[in-house]
Amino acid sequence: MYRTHTCGELRMQNTGEEVTLSGWTDAKRDFGQLTFIDLRDRYGITQLVFDMDAQPELCNEARKIGREWVLLIKGIVRERSNKNPNRPTGEIEIDVFTLQVLNASKVPPFTIEENTDGGEEIRMKYRYLDIRRAPVKEKIIFRSKVAIETRKHLAEHGFIEIETPYLIKSTPEGARDFVVPSRMNPGQFYALPQSPQTFKQLLMVAGMDKYFQIVKCFRDEDLRADRQPEFTQIDCEMAFVVKEDILQTFEQLTRHLYKTVMGVELSDFPRMTYDEAMRRYGSDKPDLRFGMEFIELNDLAKGRGFPVFDQAELVVGISAKGQANKFSNKDIKKLTSWLQRPQIGAKGLVHVKWNEDGTIKSSVGKFFSDEQLKGWLEAMHARPGDMLLILAGDADPTRKQLSELRLEMAERMNLLDSKVVKPLWVIDFPLLEWDEDSQRFHAMHHPFTSPRKEDIELLNSSDRAVLSSIKADAYDLVINGAEIGGGSIRIHDRKIQMKTFHLLGFTDEEAESQFGFLMGAFEYGAPPHGGIAFGLDRLCAIMQGEKSIRDYIAFPKNNQGRDVMIDAPSPIDPDQLDELSLSLNLPIE
Ligand code: ASP
Repeated sequence: MYRTHTCGELRMQNTGEEVTLSGWTDAKRDFGQLTFIDLRDRYGITQLVFDMDAQPELCNEARKIGREWVLLIKGIVRERSNKNPNRPTGEIEIDVFTLQVLNASKVPPFTIEENTDGGEEIRMKYRYLDIRRAPVKEKIIFRSKVAIETRKHLAEHGFIEIETPYLIKSTPEGARDFVVPSRMNPGQFYALPQSPQTFKQLLMVAGMDKYFQIVKCFRDEDLRADRQPEFTQIDCEMAFVVKEDILQTFEQLTRHLYKTVMGVELSDFPRMTYDEAMRRYGSDKPDLRFGMEFIELNDLAKGRGFPVFDQAELVVGISAKGQANKFSNKDIKKLTSWLQRPQIGAKGLVHVKWNEDGTIKSSVGKFFSDEQLKGWLEAMHARPGDMLLILAGDADPTRKQLSELRLEMAERMNLLDSKVVKPLWVIDFPLLEWDEDSQRFHAMHHPFTSPRKEDIELLNSSDRAVLSSIKADAYDLVINGAEIGGGSIRIHDRKIQMKTFHLLGFTDEEAESQFGFLMGAFEYGAPPHGGIAFGLDRLCAIMQGEKSIRDYIAFPKNNQGRDVMIDAPSPIDPDQLDELSLSLNLPIE
């Protein structure tokens, strides 16, 4: 009744056919004699033509139609004289003989085009119009393909999809929980899951040895750039597996997704330990699309009378290819200020330029001879034309600062090619992370993560350095410098789980009251198990070389965590508050 074809479907071989189409008015061009309307739906755009001579009444109707009106037309497909090679339907048009307006539209608050004139806020408010735009629509469709291929692949490999509850128990570990008051249990609250972690482990105890779920997770964090309070994970767990099984399984899934959705064959997935990643790139998610590896210069640069270096724990640098003549002193100054911003916090920047003519210029030329600087250049495999950028200070922060600089330089040097895909597994993360503020250990992944077998004994130590050195059987998949997902082999022994809780500062009672259900389950034949979760939104963005995850989410929140379309969060009725046994003691305005 509404359509015989979609607006993206008709081609030359359909000429002469009588068709019915429905869609939105994308554009109208009125030339007096001829009026053209581009009719759009999810599948594409088809040109309609109305001829004043042939059908004056119909043509007059068409001339009144506005943007985004919903139309139903009938007409004959014919070859276009003026073909549009940029459009799949660009060789044909429809000679319309019936036109019906299904619904008129107000003038949209921004143009529904590839490059819209609408700002972020207005587009979010009218998200249903924004989704009509090709770039947003295509991302939503892309995400659907990734989700469907994930389901197909995992199902083919024996995984079953199981839903876990959204109303669960609040725990203090990890990020802040979103909580939901319980009407039937006054003064008590559910929490929305930050992930289905404990449930998927219980499913392993229950014998469902290959579980997956494409699932919403909720974290009430301060929204850093490109984080969403609700996001989606491809969440998995397997029993009777070691790390290798999980890495293989999810490497295969990743390959499958790139191949089926993008047509891209991925090459190898190298492995790198956390320690090595930090040493070579200053990051646990190194971008391997380009080199600029860190080279440590302690032996060559310390003890030569330059106080900044002499007092530093680490002197470390990168060599930027062909950049010597690209950076004036002013540019270097700007780069230094950029590094000194509180977000990065470097104290200063030392550079060495090896000019094409062989001369060497450095900001520390007073302290080091050309011979000495040559030694650095060699150590860093530089060539004439290259520029060394060197930082010094305490080892950990200096590495992080240099990692930022490495990425910044890559950006400036155009090395971040989104067509290149460089995955890697980062493995052997530390189990525990010391937190100076709270003077206690945090779990680097989560408290259910098992130490590597060979490190389990070390859990009995009371020496902070020894405990810090314990490595977890945990792994992250990184693609092009973004963390796609992570997971671990889990603890499945009550005693070891309790030991870990103690190290994290829990008393017996606290551990019991918060995680007694899990440790109790471990006493009923818990199999060895482990798992992983991929961030679906992020994976989609990385696959398409996009920086933001926002357009892969149909209805995202803004930076204040608000849905500006439905205006949430919002106050609730006093009666509703009463019913929930909640009272708000907000100041009366
Ligand atoms: N639940 C973990 C997370 O959300 C992933 C895992 O360990 O499987 O990061």
